[in-house]
Amino acid sequence: MNQKKRKSHYHADMLSVEDAREKILSKFKTLNPIQINILESVGSVISEDIISEINVPPLDNSAMDGYAVIKNDLLKADDENIIYLDVIEEIPAGTIPKLSLSPGQASRIMTGAPIPSGSDAVVPFEDTNELENNDKNKIGIKISVKNLENIRKKSEDIKKGSVIIKKGSLITSATVGVMASIGLEKVSVIRKPIIGILSTGNELLEPGEKNQDGKIYNSNTYTLSSLVTEFGATPLIQKHALDKVEDLEKKLAKLKDVDLIVTSAGVSKGDYDIVKDVLDKNGDINLWSVNMRPAKPLAFGIITIDGKKIPLLGVPGNPVSAMIAFEKFGRYAIDKMKGKPLRNRPIIKANLESDIINHDGRRLYSRVKVIVDSSSKIIAVPIKNQSSGVLTSMHEANGLAICPSDIDILKKGEKIDVEMFNWNENISDILNNEE
Ligand code: AMP
Ligand code: MG
Repeated sequence: MNQKKRKSHYHADMLSVEDAREKILSKFKTLNPIQINILESVGSVISEDIISEINVPPLDNSAMDGYAVIKNDLLKADDENIIYLDVIEEIPAGTIPKLSLSPGQASRIMTGAPIPSGSDAVVPFEDTNELENNDKNKIGIKISVKNLENIRKKSEDIKKGSVIIKKGSLITSATVGVMASIGLEKVSVIRKPIIGILSTGNELLEPGEKNQDGKIYNSNTYTLSSLVTEFGATPLIQKHALDKVEDLEKKLAKLKDVDLIVTSAGVSKGDYDIVKDVLDKNGDINLWSVNMRPAKPLAFGIITIDGKKIPLLGVPGNPVSAMIAFEKFGRYAIDKMKGKPLRNRPIIKANLESDIINHDGRRLYSRVKVIVDSSSKIIAVPIKNQSSGVLTSMHEANGLAICPSDIDILKKGEKIDVEMFNWNENISDILNNEE
């Protein structure tokens, strides 16, 4: 190992990322359940056991287009010995057979149609002489079949009366389909949290506004809102506030019905007075230093608006810090409110492509792009400019390399831990980089 352990630099005044997160999460609980249409439920946690009132499939049915037969009629059938059966009925999907089969008989049947009584197998069209044969009342069969061949059994998917989805499960697209398959239209889920988003700063312009000297476009509102959506909550965007007490109070007042307010900027030393004054006056907010880089300064507490107590998370103004603070704290609060298990990002081991230096003994989250080289080696390439103001570094990165606070340097060639932003999408990203 090339890692050098740091001896000095113990930041007693700083909260660890984990302690800060725990303090934050202690102020949230799982929200109440509501009934919604199943189409709106993907990504939510189900708040009831789902018991099926029906069997799926409801009846034994055909897995193929072909002929329902009696297997004992066909014991000796093959290409050289075609066995002829009388066709007594045609059964399209969605109809019920009227006739039951006796020896020597078959019914023409479509995929999904119920099996007529007396039949114990289906022969696909390909194994009959249907194409060569002009007599609609007779069919020649060229194969023998096993018991229940090409028959889907009644209730093989879902048994009437059984619990098919347990309370507390996360609803995936497949879960929505399973609910649809038992005819369920509405489902009870933990409701989606509403997250109020309020950026602050005199320098801000909104996208769409004319560019002006000395101003910058507000990106935090847009990254934060997109992260909120990504993590399955509903953003409620408030137009950015100026660094003035009255404006900040006016804008905050409009967020009185949300489950969490996320503000950006005004929490670092230089300029937190405005935000601090407002938060001090209206609530119980703490300003923390968290042992991490980027995103050391963080505000968290409870603000009272119109008599309502609402948790408030104040992330730093620098665009990368704002995203990483939300990533480390905000999204966990969303998961807790949604009743989801709190999961960290998947961590992979990657070979570091160039040194990462940890200057000041905080836990360093370095933006990296993980790629796979021609010998299938997983490599973490640090993004060149790690400034917390350089938002394109987040766009280029697909993960965060973690350098522990007591390590001065991660050396080129070392195997390091990387938290991947989105593992599934990153896989294709990684494969596309193969040369
Ligand atoms: P502050 O936290 O107010 O000291 O801001 C730190 C840096 O982040 C400054 O360069 C700000 O201009 C920038 N910044 C603050 N808010 C935003 C925002 N909403 N979008 C983009 N950059 C911002
Ligand atoms: Mg500012």
